Amino acid sequence: MKLAGMTAVITGGGRGIGAAVARELAAEGAAVVVAARDLDRVKTVAESIERSGGKARAVRCDVTDPSSVHALASAASRQGAAIDILINNAGMAHSAPLQKITLEDWQRVFAVNATGTFLCTQAFVPGMLERKRGSIVNVASVAGLVGARYIAVYAAAKHAVIGFTRSVAAELEGTGVTCNAVCPGFVDTDMTKESVARVAVKTGKSPDAALAAMLASSSQRRLITPDEVAHAVLALCDFSGQRPNGTAVTIAG
Ligand code: NAP
Repeated sequence: MKLAGMTAVITGGGRGIGAAVARELAAEGAAVVVAARDLDRVKTVAESIERSGGKARAVRCDVTDPSSVHALASAASRQGAAIDILINNAGMAHSAPLQKITLEDWQRVFAVNATGTFLCTQAFVPGMLERKRGSIVNVASVAGLVGARYIAVYAAAKHAVIGFTRSVAAELEGTGVTCNAVCPGFVDTDMTKESVARVAVKTGKSPDAALAAMLASSSQRRLITPDEVAHAVLALCDFSGQRPNGTAVTIAG
């Protein structure tokens, strides 16, 4: 097991990519702390990991709220657990043409995707630096690397995550703590289902046709599975070899 004896915190772990990452890291021996706003969902994920023989705890956290992130850091390190791995996965999508974007939309999308990543990283890095060991993986998006129509806010927030990742990586260079990002295209989760439903309503297409158009616009042949993203995240947390630092790994399906 690659992560035996380690503890990992996964934000947005109640479903989708975050739940898959929590399962993957737990299967490799990490004790996982699964966090999101909906406590029932994170409890369900933690309980299913425990039933499969893994170690998991559920903690309620809103990553946009500094006091909630603080409480997560305290809860995660309860009983002296040192946090080796932080997966900043909590996020939300948004799509609208430029003139329909409200300031509130802009602030909400940045708060979850970008500010949440900043607050959690700042809360967990000091402990990692003390032990000279840590891995931070930020779940960005292909939208953090390229722009596309109608996703200006989401793409700007994910570009912010990539810039943050690269800059923090530069600052951490040589300390034993790394900071990387994964950049998936469309993944088979609730987030994509909601986007497909929105596009179908707006364009009058069937959900299947809307999904096909979305995939074609991003040159994807198929939806990526949450497990594929989880494998890429695990590779960036492998302490046994030389880990990269400051990379943004595309998972393009
Ligand atoms: P999802 O199914 O919508 O899940 C999002 C997760 O984030 C949920 O667990 C949600 O839980 C949590 N979350 C949202 N706001 C939060 C907050 N303020 N504080 C704490 N947790 C919060 O989405 P997903 O597809 O798994 O996406 C996970 C990540 O991958 C996101 O960062 C997303 O941008 C990124 N991504 C997704 C895709 C895709 O196609 N699906 C592609 C590229 C990148 P609560 O609502 O309970 O808080």
